[in-house]
Amino acid sequence: MKTALVTGASRGIGAACVRSLAADGYDVTVNYLKSEDAALHLARELGGAAVRADVSDSAQVRRLFEEIAPPDVLVCSAGASLIKLLTDTSEAEWRQLLELNLGGVINCCQAAIPSMVRKKSGRIIVVSSVWGVVGASCEAVYSASKAALIGLVKSLAKELGPSGITVNCVAPGVIETDMNAALDEATRLSLIDATPLGYIGAPEDVAALVRFLASDGARFITGQVIGVDGGFS
Ligand code: NAP
Repeated sequence: MKTALVTGASRGIGAACVRSLAADGYDVTVNYLKSEDAALHLARELGGAAVRADVSDSAQVRRLFEEIAPPDVLVCSAGASLIKLLTDTSEAEWRQLLELNLGGVINCCQAAIPSMVRKKSGRIIVVSSVWGVVGASCEAVYSASKAALIGLVKSLAKELGPSGITVNCVAPGVIETDMNAALDEATRLSLIDATPLGYIGAPEDVAALVRFLASDGARFITGQVIGVDGGFS
């Protein structure tokens, strides 16, 4: 059976990716940090395992990989947002966000790549953001972290292509998850207004693309940034 690891999979986009990969027959490991009940429930429902690890901590990521079978597919979805003027952002805040959104992906790729290289196959799918493509006012650090992932993915695609490993980014637009739960109504409406399709996406919209990128049909696609944003970008 093929194996997959989805980080930040207890809720939102990560959880939807777990379901879509499980539907394709993957044995999926659900990584989580705080939402233990949700992660265990999802893993139990799908017959996989749930493993706690803070992806921004390389030692915890190494331990996570020691616990699981080497994944054929790595989906990096764990992340957080930070909505603030740059001038109001403390050094601790921006460093912490970069350690999670960029460092977390680097840690997981470093842990996943060696076994993929040995097998000469593998899929790495990184959840960036439309903000990493177009930039967002009051989300400069978040946008920078997501733009950095695009550089990481494009570089890794070149580094790992000769080993038969594909590396791609998905760039969601506004998706209905806890991440956007705190947005006020006026902001929600303006984001909907800026989305040509005129509505907020669902986690399943992103998971459908992730499922395709993990499939044999996507074997010749690498180094790409693919938007799931209702036309926002
Ligand atoms: P969400 O609903 O807030 O879920 C975040 C997930 O990340 C949770 O499962 C959380 O786990 C996990 N997580 C947070 N910090 C972690 C850490 N240090 N180690 C391991 N897991 C951690 O967010 P979402 O909307 O699904 O976002 C998923 C990804 O999509 C993020 O990278 C986000 O930047 C990106 N994205 C989201 C949107 C959007 O509109 N929602 C748009 C573009 C991009 P616990 O709950 O267990 O702590």
